[in-house]
Amino acid sequence: MPPDTLTTPVDLLVFPRWIIPIVPDGTVLEDHALGVVDGRIQAILPAVDARLRLSAKEELHLSEHVVLPGLINAHGHSAMSLLRGYADDKTLMTWLNDHIWPAEATHVDASFVADGVQLALAEMICSGTTCFSDMYFFPDVTARLVSECGMRAQIAFPIFDFPTAWGSGPEEYIAKGLALRDTYQDHALVRPVFGPHAPYTVAETTLRDIARLSKELDCPVHIHVQETAEEVRNSQSQHAKTPLARLHDLGLLGPQTQCVHMTQLCDGDIELLQQHNAHVVHCPSSNMKLASGICPTKALLEAGINVALGTDSAASNNRLDMFWEMRSAALLAKLSTQDAAALPARQVLNMATIHGARALGIEIETGSLEPGKAADFIAVDLNHPGSQPVYDPISQLVYATSSDQVSHSYVAGRALLTDGVLTGLSRSSIMTAVQTWQQTIAGSS
Ligand SMILES: [Zn+2]
Repeated sequence: MPPDTLTTPVDLLVFPRWIIPIVPDGTVLEDHALGVVDGRIQAILPAVDARLRLSAKEELHLSEHVVLPGLINAHGHSAMSLLRGYADDKTLMTWLNDHIWPAEATHVDASFVADGVQLALAEMICSGTTCFSDMYFFPDVTARLVSECGMRAQIAFPIFDFPTAWGSGPEEYIAKGLALRDTYQDHALVRPVFGPHAPYTVAETTLRDIARLSKELDCPVHIHVQETAEEVRNSQSQHAKTPLARLHDLGLLGPQTQCVHMTQLCDGDIELLQQHNAHVVHCPSSNMKLASGICPTKALLEAGINVALGTDSAASNNRLDMFWEMRSAALLAKLSTQDAAALPARQVLNMATIHGARALGIEIETGSLEPGKAADFIAVDLNHPGSQPVYDPISQLVYATSSDQVSHSYVAGRALLTDGVLTGLSRSSIMTAVQTWQQTIAGSS
């Protein structure tokens, strides 16, 4: 049947039971439809009006589902998925010094990164993540794979003081990273940024250079800060200030700075974050598993600081599952403040969506379902024994939903997951490659 001349044509029209647009805050729309044109959200309107006013090339009817923005995993090291479960139940410095860094020195090359990243992409797409921030060696390989599979990502190119498989030292890391940035200058989905590892692994001269370049190039900086009490203690004894205060004194704190972890905060730290509009990325599972410390999310949010959510790597989590992460963030905030009202579900879902987009500097593009933004959304099937009955879909998503219930995922209008099946990645070939790595890595340790 030819489209009615009185209707507006759209590429895709989705009819779910509920839509949670995130903006306006806390809204749940029932029996509404989402229209997509050229990869962007054209309209969100009552389903009855959509049937009258829009004609779609393709319709998706999801009568038991909630549609919401794709989740944003604001911190991770995706290739480390190949080290999932390799060295569990260790303290952070033992884990890094005696296990992870030696394994990386032996095994990390471009093919390790390619296979590890594809495993991570498959896990993230299947569990509702449409956008992530990554920091790892061979970021050129990661950027290429993300571009090929159609996800959205911030690629923080790593900078250390010491040589690794990807470079000889800070000068080479920065030169290679800036070349990568040039390559992806006009890419719609992939954005390379500075990724100095931490204040204790990068020299002050290099941190100053990064601060200057970040401002000159209008390019974000993604950095681990105050992950553990030991890091804060060492900084206090060597520099008489917290790591965050050091970053501030080096000119590295601003609205483009993404501070990952941020545990052991003092009032001065919160004031610095506030004054400079810097962002915090909270990684509750990793912080709990490595017994690193607690990021005071309630206090930060009350101070008006933007707090996003990340999984960290599969080696310290051990999943890249933002549903787990949302639940962990809510429970940790309640226990640590002795306040059951702390970090309610609505706020946690905001952290996993719009706050993530704000932290990565892409809020204009994604993080909420609003006309004009990219059509980055997921559908979650709540017709599941563990998610019924539904009084409040937002509460259900945070406290009573498994990522297995994610059925569909779209980035910029392109389907990456349809009825739980990956559209652009070969699950079987990824699993074959992973088996080979497991044997290699296990055999050499
Ligand atoms: Zn990390």
